[in-house]
Amino acid sequence: MSKVIVLTGAGGVLCSTLAKALAKEGHKIAVLDLRKEAADTIASEINANGGVAIGVEANVLEKASLIAAKQVVNDALGACDILINGAGGNHPLGTTSNPHLLEEDLENDTDGFKTFFDLDPNGIKFVFDLNFIGTLLPTQVFAKDMVGKKGCSILNISSMNAFTPLTKIPAYSGAKAAVSNFTQWLAVHFSKVGIRVNALAPGFFLTDQNRTLLTTETGELTPRGNTIIEQTPMGKFGEPEDLIGTTLWLCGEGSSFVTGVVIPIDGGFSAFSGV
Ligand code: NAD
Repeated sequence: MSKVIVLTGAGGVLCSTLAKALAKEGHKIAVLDLRKEAADTIASEINANGGVAIGVEANVLEKASLIAAKQVVNDALGACDILINGAGGNHPLGTTSNPHLLEEDLENDTDGFKTFFDLDPNGIKFVFDLNFIGTLLPTQVFAKDMVGKKGCSILNISSMNAFTPLTKIPAYSGAKAAVSNFTQWLAVHFSKVGIRVNALAPGFFLTDQNRTLLTTETGELTPRGNTIIEQTPMGKFGEPEDLIGTTLWLCGEGSSFVTGVVIPIDGGFSAFSGV
């Protein structure tokens, strides 16, 4: 059955791929993004391929913006059945320069070099807000359409670093841990009104967000990129398309008794102890 599916951050790499895959299944798609042009581009692509989609500008950090976006979605496509909370990401201000603190780091005055002691609370706050508040607010706005209706669900996007934090990115790891925790909390909270809540925990996908961390300008792996591949039993980065199967399952009737799960899609990264 055709559903109205709202995806935030769907002008981006991963969720635009999910938007296109869900459109191919016959669902009506609302592509929400802070970047209206990116949202419109994805919606146009879906429509040109015979699907139904609209691009909508929305800031997941501002409730008024989300309420306005919901009105646009309701008028154009109808009530929301499924919400995918895809907007998220990291920020350099919440990231240390080195994986471990060394004594000599305290003397390092290289421009831009950051130890744990230099982390900017505003950077940390930005990352927590974008990932956690940016999941909570769209849920408050769009899940109202779902209460008491059949076949509704929410899919959050957590991350591998929610299970075990990655070095250098304490804010992003903590914020995604909050998203996983919230997924379980919300699954319980919404269990009596027919809304299932689950999450994907993608491993390492080469996207604009992390390209400069993982590869050099010439496309070689950085030391960090190399470590990731060595710690990923399947020996490669994921492709955005690797998220499609689990998304279709979690948004469909085949998972009607599944709620509160966070599914790793990581080539075995989280299963591997490193030895
Ligand atoms: P991306 O940067 O390509 O897409 C994110 C999108 O969110 C962008 O289009 C951006 O414009 C939009 N956005 C940013 N701030 C926003 C705001 N305030 N309101 C609305 N939209 C906003 O990133 P991606 O790699 O496609 O990541 C999608 C999700 O997957 C994110 O939550 C990310 O944290 C998560 N994730 C990514 C990876 C990876 O390896 N790329 C791994 C694990 C989890």
